[in-house]
Amino acid sequence: MNPVFRLEKKYLILCLIGIGLIVFLILELTNKYSLTVALQGDPVITLEVGTEYKDPGAKARYKGSHLPFRNRKVKVTAAGSVDVNKLGTYTITYKASHRGLSSQKTRTVKVVDTQAPVITLKSDADNYTLPGAEYKEEGYTAKDNYDGDLTSSVEREEKDGVVTYTVTDSSGNVGKAERKIVYDDRTAPVITLDKTAASVYVGDTWEDSYSAKDDLDGDVTSSVKVDGKVDTSKEGTYVLKYTSTDAHGNTAQAERKVVVKALPQNDPENPKDKNKIIYLTFDDGPGQYTAQLLDILKKYNVKATFFVTGQFGYSNMISREAQEGHAVGVHSMTHDFKKIYASDTAYWEDFADMDMIIVKNTGRPASIMRFPGGSSNTISSFNPGIMTKLVKEAGERGLEYFDWNVSSGDAGETQDSNQVYQNIIDGVQQQAASVVLCHDIHPFTVNAMEKTIRWCLENGYTFEPITPGAVECHHPVNN
Ligand code: ZN
Repeated sequence: MNPVFRLEKKYLILCLIGIGLIVFLILELTNKYSLTVALQGDPVITLEVGTEYKDPGAKARYKGSHLPFRNRKVKVTAAGSVDVNKLGTYTITYKASHRGLSSQKTRTVKVVDTQAPVITLKSDADNYTLPGAEYKEEGYTAKDNYDGDLTSSVEREEKDGVVTYTVTDSSGNVGKAERKIVYDDRTAPVITLDKTAASVYVGDTWEDSYSAKDDLDGDVTSSVKVDGKVDTSKEGTYVLKYTSTDAHGNTAQAERKVVVKALPQNDPENPKDKNKIIYLTFDDGPGQYTAQLLDILKKYNVKATFFVTGQFGYSNMISREAQEGHAVGVHSMTHDFKKIYASDTAYWEDFADMDMIIVKNTGRPASIMRFPGGSSNTISSFNPGIMTKLVKEAGERGLEYFDWNVSSGDAGETQDSNQVYQNIIDGVQQQAASVVLCHDIHPFTVNAMEKTIRWCLENGYTFEPITPGAVECHHPVNN
């Protein structure tokens, strides 16, 4: 080998080393160091509330600008925390420092609620709504993952057969539910039978009385079909069947027995209750309504007492009264207060005239009597003491006089048949033995009698005619 070349090679190596050192020195002197924190994962993380948060962390590197072998990892510290159960925006700061350099990065963690509340509907399979009716809410609940129970915030809207339920949570998430309303009608009408039509007396007019109501169709009375008939001319029990069907085909049935009863009959021989005896007395007749009254009394076998006058004629009625078992007594021939109470002689003359007509029509004189105006009258006060005298003389003549303890009110108080009826039934309930004052010269009195007699018989009363000694009924004498 050539020594020169050797030398040259030696210098060359030294030269190269020298150049290398210089280069390194230059590099080292111009090298710039930096410290960088780099996030792992996204700088902004959105997290559903209640879920777990795992921080992805960060890395830091200490690095020279052109001397890669001087690079190194640096420890990163993280500050900040995330409450996954609370909505909000959280910041985590990552820091690193090395050889006088420091660096940091932040990460934003958003804890959000994106879940809508859940509405749960309560529903009964048997539940239904009548067509056209408003749906009756069966109930619902609303729960939210974050807000909890939101039931009270639910808004509901019913439209076209659908109920829509809406609820919004505090994050604006909207929960919805829908209910399809089941429309139907499964209830039959209700038939109501009025008890008033349950019985009728033979010969009376009977009218059925009932109604039917449906929960949907309303009054369906007119659609009720009635099977069976009531023959009021014959006593008996008649069965009637009622059927009512609503528009949805629900059918109701009802049945009743209508009793056509025999007319109640008075039985004076066998009084039902000795403390319920009624002596009906009729003054001032006979008159034009007496025959009608006698027909009514006959229909119920009621025996009454007639204190008769000669004012209106109709004396043949006195004979009918006696023949049909009624008691007949003297009231007055003229019923003229001025005349009869002018003197005792005048009174007994008038009395004798009337008694003569009674004898003519009944075959015997009267043993019972009633003073016009009653023994307590004061209309006779123009002749002081006359009533005291007449009462005494009646006894001496073997006559028994009768006043009354129940007034029908038909002598001026009322002209209404219902009031007459009411006065009598009210009055007889106050007495064990009632002597009832009526006047057979008034149509409204006669018209009240059938109803009055029926009530009394239905309530256990017995009608009897007045016979001497049957009952004592005297007013205090006032003159
Ligand atoms: Zn009279």
